[in-house]
Amino acid sequence: MRVQTLLSDFFREVSSFTGERREFLEVLQRWLNAKLRFWNKETRAAWGLEWIATADLAPYPVELATLSPEVELAQIKKYPPSSLDSFGMFISEIFWEGITLEAISNCNNCGAGMRIMEATEEDIPVLECKQCVCCQRANGQCWEGDEILRPATTQRVLACRELWAVC
Ligand SMILES: [Zn+2]
Repeated sequence: MRVQTLLSDFFREVSSFTGERREFLEVLQRWLNAKLRFWNKETRAAWGLEWIATADLAPYPVELATLSPEVELAQIKKYPPSSLDSFGMFISEIFWEGITLEAISNCNNCGAGMRIMEATEEDIPVLECKQCVCCQRANGQCWEGDEILRPATTQRVLACRELWAVC
């Protein structure tokens, strides 16, 4: 399927949406789940599309996140992705914006914004740079663990408010 066809379908299903953020993400998930087969295996893996399509949103701080469905939809209408790969990246960005919080501090390595994730085994919050591969502990030191970081749960972000909330 061509990306334009898939985009038209996306707009038909998703862009008429005018509800809460959590509902928007659920609509996005349902749509993605029905269309996953149009992305090849590599692209699905590169953007985590399979996880996104079926993730349980309940543990994540969607209400505290900063995603604005209106802004994102206006953006994709203005600059439509030209390939399935960039469309996959766009969906992934919307989703992450919707379930993770942005940290107050910026990346020590490149200065970009960071998302609050967690290392589940170590049971600590980890800040992940949006641009480079740098990950930091709450104290600013580099985190070099090898487990896969998960989005921080609501419980976690409420326990480390100083990392994201402007007090
Ligand atoms: Zn960085």
